[in-house]
Amino acid sequence: MTLSLTRKDLEDLAAHLSAVAPGDVRIDKPLAPYTSYRIGGPTAVWVAPGSEDGVRGVLEVVRNTTIPLFVLGRGSNLLISDRGWPGVTLYIGENLSSLQFSGAQAEVGAGTLLLEVIRAAADRGLGGMEQMAGIPGGVGGALRMNAGAFGREIESVTAAVAGFRADGSPCRIARQDIAFGYRCAPQLGEMIITSARFRFQTEPATMLRARVDEILALRKRKQPLEHPSCGSVFKRPPGYYAGALIEASGLKGERVGGAEVSRKHAGFILNVGDAAATDVYRLIRRIEERVFERFGIRLEREVHLVGDFSEEGFDDRP
Ligand SMILES: Cc1cc2nc3c(=O)[nH]c(=O)nc-3n(C[C@H](O)[C@H](O)[C@H](O)COP(=O)(O)OP(=O)(O)OC[C@H]3O[C@@H](n4cnc5c(N)ncnc54)[C@H](O)[C@@H]3O)c2cc1C
Repeated sequence: MTLSLTRKDLEDLAAHLSAVAPGDVRIDKPLAPYTSYRIGGPTAVWVAPGSEDGVRGVLEVVRNTTIPLFVLGRGSNLLISDRGWPGVTLYIGENLSSLQFSGAQAEVGAGTLLLEVIRAAADRGLGGMEQMAGIPGGVGGALRMNAGAFGREIESVTAAVAGFRADGSPCRIARQDIAFGYRCAPQLGEMIITSARFRFQTEPATMLRARVDEILALRKRKQPLEHPSCGSVFKRPPGYYAGALIEASGLKGERVGGAEVSRKHAGFILNVGDAAATDVYRLIRRIEERVFERFGIRLEREVHLVGDFSEEGFDDRP
């Protein structure tokens, strides 16, 4: 996606955004530091509102333009193009992080780190999310992805999700009205999530804390956490494991530039040294082709691609 916005256009837009969302508005801000991959070019305009009102203000400004909007959470499930994002990046991270318990429920800001919620709940003797300990990222991203691990997905503790539609109108959806799927929640993809209500079950705090530590240790043993990555690049195909298929296709350790298929867990593509998004992307394509040739299975990507990946030989766009 290319847009021909002049510097003046961007400065005008940034001025409008600063008026409605005082705080952090920038032009040409590099996105790589905001991703777990440490990869990606700059965003044309960056805005990080410090309140829900600010988010609404941003949406009201952007809806009157033709500029595309991208919502960035904690960046742990993203591959951002080397060319960056040609529109507005609305960041929902520590600027919208909050956590308020009331009985066995909590109202949580979308930018709050998942692990922070899990630990705070465990300390209060509230369980149901411990299996998700160690999934990087924030609450908004976890809901959008229906993140999960060890048989538990975030949908199981979700009571309601709140935020805005793209036009800035507020919305709050109850759990029963959200069609969560495997690593997806299509309705939530159409909104900008600003908070959620979680419902826990009471359990002894000591047991919950121990379970969290156990899960974190297990992840450390099984996952290649020593290099930047986005976790599993592909979803689990029904009846198989993506990592096992990739390994059986002879691709463990396969490398393109600074991107490498992990030798520890072939479902991960690692940034082992200044990988470009194109390196990771080429490796993704190679894996998809090889697994299809060997097994006739089309792997589905879990990682979200952001920006333009069209280049020689590839006409695939996110
Ligand atoms: C080492 C490692 C291990 C991982 N292990 C797991 C695992 O076990 N299970 C698992 O499910 N995932 C795993 N992941 C992937 C990732 O951590 C999850 O998908 C996570 O929930 C993404 O949250 P995020 O805040 O980083 O979202 P981002 O990566 O920032 O965004 C992901 C998507 O959600 C959208 N989004 C983000 N915030 C909002 C919002 N507020 N409103 C609307 N849309 C939003 C973005 O536009 C994007 O499309 C792993 C990743 C890494 C790096």
